[in-house]
Amino acid sequence: MITVVGLAQGLQLYPLLRSYGARSATSIAGVRSRSTATRAQVADEHAGEAGADAASPIAWKDATLPTNEDNAGNLLRIRHSTAHVMAMAVQKLFKGTKVSIGPWIENGFYYDFDPVEPFQEKDLRRIKKEMDKIISYKWPFVEEEVTREEAERRILEQDEPYKLEILNRIKSDRITIWHTSKKQDGWWDLCAGPHVEHTGMLPKDSIQLESIAGAYFFGDETRPMLQRIYGTAWETPEQLAEHVRLQKEAKRRDHRKIGKDLNLFSIQQAAGGGLVFWHPKGAQVRSLLEGYWKEAHLKGGYELLYTPHMASVDLWKTSGHFDFYKDGMFDQMEVEGADYQLKPMNCPFHVLVFKDKQPSYRDLPIRWAELGTVYRYERSGTLHGLFRVRGFTQDDAHIFCLPEQLTDEITQVLDLTEEILTKFGFTEYEINLSTRPDKSVGTDEIWDKATAGLVSALDRKGWDYLVDEGGGAFYGPKIDIKITDAIGRKWQCSTVQCDFNLPERFDLKYVASSGEKLQPIMLHRAIFGSIERFFGVLIESTAGDFPFWLAPTQLRLLPVSDDFLPFCNEVVAKARAAGLRAEVDPGGRSLGKQIKIASADKIPVFGVVGKDEVEGSTLSLKSRKGGELGSLSVDEAVARMVAAQKASLEPHEVPAAAE
Ligand SMILES: [Zn+2]
Ligand SMILES: [Zn+2]
Repeated sequence: MITVVGLAQGLQLYPLLRSYGARSATSIAGVRSRSTATRAQVADEHAGEAGADAASPIAWKDATLPTNEDNAGNLLRIRHSTAHVMAMAVQKLFKGTKVSIGPWIENGFYYDFDPVEPFQEKDLRRIKKEMDKIISYKWPFVEEEVTREEAERRILEQDEPYKLEILNRIKSDRITIWHTSKKQDGWWDLCAGPHVEHTGMLPKDSIQLESIAGAYFFGDETRPMLQRIYGTAWETPEQLAEHVRLQKEAKRRDHRKIGKDLNLFSIQQAAGGGLVFWHPKGAQVRSLLEGYWKEAHLKGGYELLYTPHMASVDLWKTSGHFDFYKDGMFDQMEVEGADYQLKPMNCPFHVLVFKDKQPSYRDLPIRWAELGTVYRYERSGTLHGLFRVRGFTQDDAHIFCLPEQLTDEITQVLDLTEEILTKFGFTEYEINLSTRPDKSVGTDEIWDKATAGLVSALDRKGWDYLVDEGGGAFYGPKIDIKITDAIGRKWQCSTVQCDFNLPERFDLKYVASSGEKLQPIMLHRAIFGSIERFFGVLIESTAGDFPFWLAPTQLRLLPVSDDFLPFCNEVVAKARAAGLRAEVDPGGRSLGKQIKIASADKIPVFGVVGKDEVEGSTLSLKSRKGGELGSLSVDEAVARMVAAQKASLEPHEVPAAAE
């Protein structure tokens, strides 16, 4: 199944944006295939109406695979035009099928249908065959501008109820219809384009129909479910082949499957969708990840906060979330006549702590970090493993500083981000700087200053970045960082955002050297984004082969028979005392089976324990990634693994001097 562009959930540190102003998801969803739509808009739109598998890979890095943004939109023209051709083929083959929307997406396209009888996988072949015919006819794509009334008349004539709704959602006065046929009265779609000139320009050997999924019209799960057909389209058959290979690789790495195989986490239907249960092995990884995160933050001059999971609705009114982010919050609950709400973010809580004791300029910068668990309402149809959930923990922090401290603070955030991401093996980034949108709060002066601060911090780092002009939130400019995983996919995780809104709403003040009371600069930032999502990315990037320092079990001993269990237990106790995570296979199964299971469990180091080991008090260890480590005394073996853990290396990479 093709992956859909999804909005990086953990990234929305402070997502008032979603229902504010012109960039809101629903207002432009009907004309989503406009070539003028920015990447961010497209991501927003998809987030609003994505199907059951709204995943998050943003793009493939592989040089052989172009993206929609490359080559002046040729690829997206191919993809979107192919969606039209698919809809034509479907309506020809399956009479009575109603059409809905058919946008281009990363790697391909989809179209949503309301068929009389549900489609089956075997129908895809027939549809593709019919598409190939249409392609060979070289029918032109012709644009016609019509009045709203005329568009409505034609839609009613064709009895296309979804198109009528789409028409009603189009705010623009310019209504366009695109014809694809020999003659003007043939097949057409309500659409803003762009398309290729004629169907013959679609490379049929580079197009494949991939899957069928359920999807709600505009993501609205109160409506009957439509059927979405996903396809992929490229410029050459070679690109298609590479895409298919990468899809297979991605499937092998699916964090939901690996999470189950390695018993890391689950989503329990008995508890409800989008709520994550961390099993012991997954919880172990999380605990290490959080421990490292805390240590790095304390070293970086942060202090830690813990804040509640809910607050009075009045707080959310002051922060603006009640008015602008209501759809993303769970409903109120009444406590002694007052209304409370679960927190969708941590920011207002940190602001309250700031207000509790008005600081002086000498106290700034203040850096407060919290692994804060938040709850956000997400439509059940959009939930996806660890990538899109309803409860998650942000690795959140807020910095309150003086304007002149801004560049240093941002630089320090970028340094810490790099340090932490590198520790997990992510060293390749795509950086986006988003600037002031049309609708925004704050003065020109503050926007200029903050944007300049972000730019000079990026320059200090020597990082290349893309500028999304006008793509910032209404409350301030921001930097977003995407990491590249082991198979070249990009994931949005880290972000640092200036905020001129919350300090205003909460009337935040510090006492300046002049005695004046002034507003501090407030920064939101996260490095993992959310722990859940980052864990999902880490699982997919490593395919479950976690680095040695992070592996839930580092060493497993496999006793040849129960006679050797006491020795194994002694070694495990020694290893644990040295800070390693070691265990013994419970036994009762053949050695061959034990080895097979240790391999399936992706244990980084295992050792078979028999007579020789017990008599010599040695271990002959095998490293999953590095092969035989040879026969070592128990003390040497433990020392080598401790050194590996400390240096964040694999045991076979530890130089002899370190042993
Ligand atoms: Zn179109
Ligand atoms: Zn925040």
